[in-house]
Amino acid sequence: MVELLEKILLLQERDQRLQALMHEINNVPGEKAALQRELEEAQAQLDRAKTRAKEIEVERARLEVEAGTKRAQADKYRTQQLETRKNEEYAALKHEIDRAEADITAIEDRELELMQEAEDLKPSIAEAEKKFAAEKERVAARFKSSDEKVGVLGGRAAEVRVEREAIAAEIRAADEDLFELYEKLFLSKAGRAVVPLDGDHCSGCHMKVTPATMRDAKVGTSVVSCEQCGRIVYALPE
Ligand SMILES: [Zn+2]
Repeated sequence: MVELLEKILLLQERDQRLQALMHEINNVPGEKAALQRELEEAQAQLDRAKTRAKEIEVERARLEVEAGTKRAQADKYRTQQLETRKNEEYAALKHEIDRAEADITAIEDRELELMQEAEDLKPSIAEAEKKFAAEKERVAARFKSSDEKVGVLGGRAAEVRVEREAIAAEIRAADEDLFELYEKLFLSKAGRAVVPLDGDHCSGCHMKVTPATMRDAKVGTSVVSCEQCGRIVYALPE
């Protein structure tokens, strides 16, 4: 029995290691996705700055056309003004010319504003480009190291699995029921199927065990379970 208990403990140790390794391996896709999101955010920032710069260009071109139209209109009115002999018509044309000139001034003011915005945007774009390039490099390096990590951990997990299978086979050969009990407990008790007694308490559920359980655990000739949680308990050597 003592030997079998030692084997069960050995199996649990391998299973815990395997679980920790798998946990680390399974975390990698989430870590990579988070990195990918950071990279996408840097890309989006750069895209936003570039899109705004393009919008400004389009808006400036449109304003340029609009100003041209207004200037042509004003010129046409001026020509008409020179040709008219009617005071009323002259005054009406003057009003139209003033209006067109006010529009042109407003358009030119807006063009100046946009030019300033485009100027101010240049360092932001340069900054966003630099940040994106750095982020891309960082993410690529992290992806590479993550993949290497998965390779190493996967190799280690395969080794541990081979060891655990060998130990499991020995236990099954000796006591199939005990093996099944262990397997069930390992799953239901979050990887702690076999636990030492802590004084007269089960260190799995922290409840007191009966004196009979204490005694049997100390004798160590049979498998002893905690009456409260069902875990296999054993007494640590005194
Ligand atoms: Zn217990």
